[in-house]
Amino acid sequence: MRLSQMLFVTLREDPAEAEIPSHKLLLRAGYMRRIASGVYAYLPLLWRVLTKISEIVRDELNATGAQECLLPQLQPSELWKESGRWDTYTKAEGIMFSLIDRREQEMGLGPTHEEVITAIARDMIRSYRQLPLNLYQIQTKFRDEIRSRFGLMRGREFIMKDAYSFHADEDSLKQTYNDMYTAYSNILQRCGLEFRAVDADSGAIGGSGSTEFMVLAEAGEDEVLYTEDGQYAANIEKAISLPADVVPSTFNTYEKLETPNTPTIQTLADFLECSPTQIVKNVLYQVTYDNSHQVLVLISIRGDQDVNDTKLQNELSKLADRYGASTVITLEVPDEAAQGKWAAKPLPLGYIAPDLSDDYVQSGVKNLEPKFLRLVDETAVELKDFITGSNESGYHTVGGNWNQEYALPERVVDVREAQVGDRAVHDPEQILQSARGIEIGHIFQLGQKYSKAMGATYTAESGEELPLWMGCYGVGVSRLAQAAVEQSYDKDGIIWPIAIAPYQAIVVVPNIGDDAQMKAAEQLYADLNAAGVETLLDDRDERAGVKFKDADLVGIPFRIVTGRSLKNGKVEVVKRATQDAQDIALSEVVSTLLSWM
Ligand code: ATP
Ligand code: MG
Repeated sequence: MRLSQMLFVTLREDPAEAEIPSHKLLLRAGYMRRIASGVYAYLPLLWRVLTKISEIVRDELNATGAQECLLPQLQPSELWKESGRWDTYTKAEGIMFSLIDRREQEMGLGPTHEEVITAIARDMIRSYRQLPLNLYQIQTKFRDEIRSRFGLMRGREFIMKDAYSFHADEDSLKQTYNDMYTAYSNILQRCGLEFRAVDADSGAIGGSGSTEFMVLAEAGEDEVLYTEDGQYAANIEKAISLPADVVPSTFNTYEKLETPNTPTIQTLADFLECSPTQIVKNVLYQVTYDNSHQVLVLISIRGDQDVNDTKLQNELSKLADRYGASTVITLEVPDEAAQGKWAAKPLPLGYIAPDLSDDYVQSGVKNLEPKFLRLVDETAVELKDFITGSNESGYHTVGGNWNQEYALPERVVDVREAQVGDRAVHDPEQILQSARGIEIGHIFQLGQKYSKAMGATYTAESGEELPLWMGCYGVGVSRLAQAAVEQSYDKDGIIWPIAIAPYQAIVVVPNIGDDAQMKAAEQLYADLNAAGVETLLDDRDERAGVKFKDADLVGIPFRIVTGRSLKNGKVEVVKRATQDAQDIALSEVVSTLLSWM
């Protein structure tokens, strides 16, 4: 392609709408344009990148025996009502765009395709002989994300590869899951990305396993905890560790002490000259279920530990039944405004005890459970002679014990957040380290949730009619493109990994008025393309400096300049990643580049 004929527009300044380097660079280099919040036009250069990623994804999926298809983006509400997700997705969470068509039918734009694929499996899979089966598609997904941001990282319209597998039993599901694990590792390796596969949260669906593939980058929204020995890596939402040892308490009589200005663990530990491990901290949360029911949750946890919101949400999902609900919609620490809606009197914030009276909750508030749900984390259960609040500002109690001064809360849970510096469970010598990651892929053993809800069964060898086992596997294709940039750029612009660069080479003519330069460039351009090196020709009527800047910004791996050395029958070849330049004889350019690719 000749730049003189391309839609090629670069910007010198960082666009105000972009916050992270990859977003700025993709806009500046003319790869994309924002059309609405979280909605982008993928321009020709970006489309080539996306096509290359898609080809690598296809290649690796096909190698596992998966088959490509294309499912409708417009989906009838009936299917989502069968799985029980319509109201959650369109109203409670509100992530699904929905509409009513001229036939008065409710439809949604697909954020994901479990319902559609399960309906197909229900119709078409009859017998164990048809199993296992793995279908995938590469398609635009729609999600009305609350916080769409960072360009392609979190769009409201984005490209995903999603695959769904069907099995007669759990072993077969595990085998495909492992095959997909390998395929995903290959995909990321071939795309030239540095990544880590990490244990991930399977959320309310449960299921026996899920792995996220994280591209490591500072701008990542996720935190990964890992050990140096390579034996353990997990999303912090899911990570486990050994908590620090408890320092035994020396307060062996129970009493209430005046502890002025000690609303935080640190101020309290300093005042009492004790270890935070001897304190029982009591944290208040407010959970909203999918039927609008709200519950106030009081969690007692060891003072040096924090509550992991994801783990807590999973625990609260298990209790949804109790409140006639099926899933948690939001979980938050109630701020002053939220407290104002239900508190009967001002809460002793910073001084709350595990036995905070239910009198603090007004009765008769619509949709609100009038009693605290009391939970205790495993770390706090073990404590003896502990320090905790007194439900009175400026006072704490010391020397307290469960089942003596304080009733043990009704449910013991594990909601502690693993922290950097904790000892690893598999080997206490290993200390957890932290890194930031961008979630590019997620593979998931779904189990029988959708097949049971939607009645997707098959006839087993024994003649029995059984629900199908399912797995699902996603790759964020457009997110991957931007993650590659986030991992590989410098002050001059993008440095594409060769495998997904829009073009591999660019021939730059410093002066298009010079016939010798143009002639050599045309010849190289033709020869390189003929040899399979995807090559651009910068034949624009621009200054050489502008052309070099643009080539660096756009990030083409190899730049060939038909400049001064031409009189010796040579051209300058520059590697974008290192800016390493060398003069190479015209006749050797093609073979040299091929050897570098
Ligand atoms: P996240 O936690 O980042 O919202 P998710 O758990 O909702 O991701 P999945 O539903 O598993 O993601 O989707 C599969 C893949 O699609 C993700 O691993 C991610 O790479 C990509 N993806 C998800 N949401 C978006 C989005 N809004 N924009 C771009 N890519 C996305
Ligand atoms: Mg999401």
